[in-house]
Amino acid sequence: MTVRVRIAPSPTGNLHIGTARTAVFNWLFAHHHGGKFILRIEDTDLERSRPEYTDNILAGLRWLGLNWDEGPFFQSQRLDLYKTAVKKLLDQGLAYRCYTTPEELEALREAQKAKGEAPRYDNRHRNLTPEQEAAFQAEGHSFVIRFKIDDDREIVWNDLVRDKMVWRGSDLGGDMVIARASADGIGQPLYNFVVVVDDIDMQITHVIRGEDHIANTAKQILLYEALGAAAPVFAHSPLILNMDGRKLSKRDGVTSISDFQKLGFTAEALVNYMTLLGWSPPDSTQEIFTLEVAAKEFSFERVNKAGAKFDWAKLDWLNSQYIHNLPVDKLTDLLIPYWQEAGYNLEGRERPWLEQLVGLIGPSLTRLVEAVEMSKLFFSDTVELSEEGSKQLQQEGASAVLSAILAALENQPEFTEPTAQEIIKQVVKQQNVKKGLVMRSLRVALTGDVHGPDLIQSWLLLNHLGLDKARLNQAISS
Ligand code: GLU
Repeated sequence: MTVRVRIAPSPTGNLHIGTARTAVFNWLFAHHHGGKFILRIEDTDLERSRPEYTDNILAGLRWLGLNWDEGPFFQSQRLDLYKTAVKKLLDQGLAYRCYTTPEELEALREAQKAKGEAPRYDNRHRNLTPEQEAAFQAEGHSFVIRFKIDDDREIVWNDLVRDKMVWRGSDLGGDMVIARASADGIGQPLYNFVVVVDDIDMQITHVIRGEDHIANTAKQILLYEALGAAAPVFAHSPLILNMDGRKLSKRDGVTSISDFQKLGFTAEALVNYMTLLGWSPPDSTQEIFTLEVAAKEFSFERVNKAGAKFDWAKLDWLNSQYIHNLPVDKLTDLLIPYWQEAGYNLEGRERPWLEQLVGLIGPSLTRLVEAVEMSKLFFSDTVELSEEGSKQLQQEGASAVLSAILAALENQPEFTEPTAQEIIKQVVKQQNVKKGLVMRSLRVALTGDVHGPDLIQSWLLLNHLGLDKARLNQAISS
């Protein structure tokens, strides 16, 4: 048997971290077994589905390296298949037309609520006679298609994560709607139904999805049976929780993969982190790995039942590990879009200069986006003086030191690291001051602040752009 799994996002929002983590588990499982990973876009909700969300989902999966083997398939293009399946259930007497009006359903719910009962449909139109049906139709009543669910059915499956699961038909809310009404007969088929039709058609062997789908699984197993197909194996992965132990939601701010990307996480670090959200490798000290490496070890035996807490500190740590291990040219490629996005002018800043800058700031980065703030002074013509910086420039001798540096600079045909060191040495001697004063004053003149990246390297970068003299002059006259 070839393992066939799928990720089935609904394009009603950007690619969510929960969906992406489900995609990771599917990808790992498929690759572990040499199987296929299929992408299906569940866009039957016409009102809420948007093409830009589909684009965001596809781009996010690609960015994370979660390449798929088949698809994307779009449910909106497969309506005929679903309608044929609805018709089959109707013909077999496993489904029926229900003419109950929304007002009647509301009255039923109210009555149940008053008695303290859970809301459920009371199957009142399950056994209409042909005459009753004809009467409803003659009166122009619209209908939905309901699938019969026996209350005393026991539904059992062995979940790869949660072990033996047992549900009763009576817990499923009565006969379920599988398709809406339409003027010409069978209308828009609904979520639980189309998922099953698709999973059968796509020969899905394992359904791996979030634990919020467990109640759907019980219903879907009955649909497999009715459609004459064997149910796949199910694996319900734990939810992602925030640090307070609640389900990660919009209120937690960042939840979509494109947001994580904007915040400066690398795809490799993020996908690595998601792999660890609920799964741990047999050697639990191993924390940094590629998808390919994780796939070799992946099994549901090591997936937790309990929810997985989203730990920003851990993600940051992983991200910094990836960034610090990147070769400078790769890191430069990754940073350029962040600078562009920040509106920095890259003109006149050639590749070797950019790589030198990246070599300077790279080791201090945790998130790529931090490069914007850290390198601001290298992209602007003037510097902003911090409070501490301006105090430093008021220090006795600071101005004279800067003038001496400027004078020394005039006589240099070529400016290199040894030249810079030599100038500093000369000025210390000539002005008879402490080296600290020279270094600090120079730093403030060049960068505006008393803290920052390596001074000599920063100076070299600014000198290359011809910015150092202007800044020294500015500081002297400030
Ligand atoms: N479309 C569903 C969702 O986005 C997934 C359905 C499934 O995996 O069966 O949650």
